[in-house]
Amino acid sequence: MVDLKDRGTVKVIDGRFQFKGKFHYIYPNTPIRDESGELNGVTNPRDMTYVHMYGGEAPFFDSLRDGKLLGTRCDNPDCEHTGTVHVPFKIHCPDCLKRNTIFDITEIAKKTATVHTFMVTERTGAFNTLEKPIRFINIEFEGVSTILMGYLPVGEPKIGMRVLPIFQSKNPTFTILDLAWVPEGTPESELPEGFTFN
Ligand SMILES: [Zn+2]
Repeated sequence: MVDLKDRGTVKVIDGRFQFKGKFHYIYPNTPIRDESGELNGVTNPRDMTYVHMYGGEAPFFDSLRDGKLLGTRCDNPDCEHTGTVHVPFKIHCPDCLKRNTIFDITEIAKKTATVHTFMVTERTGAFNTLEKPIRFINIEFEGVSTILMGYLPVGEPKIGMRVLPIFQSKNPTFTILDLAWVPEGTPESELPEGFTFN
């Protein structure tokens, strides 16, 4: 079996990416045979470390552990849609293409987030780590022109239901999974492990 202790890591030094270790591992394959023993093919186990760059969206993911939900706003006075707030975080205004201003919508979310619609799924893609069934919810906020996709780990979703954001502040993953939603009135003791209201 391959040795995984040299698994790849990335650092940024002087604005340049420095890759260290191995990013691709190959494991022994196995033949695939039919009932008569005839060869049909082989399995090809592969293990690769995917490097996901956040670019201008990095502040969004880094703020979740501090209990902050960031959106962005177009502040270009010449834009037809100046003042439009985007959640999820859009780096550039889709109307005028100027860079948006980062805008903290945590308090707006706590006071006005409601379920626009929802979807409950039993079947997930590969590498899912959420408990099934997953209750995906689309969340709307007052004064925000877009709808955010999220998930509800506690309770059952209903259209129009008020929800509150919760944040994985202990052991954050720095992914969208650090943000979840619960029905208004959910006690702190019922939150999933590692999650807090702030
Ligand atoms: Zn604009």
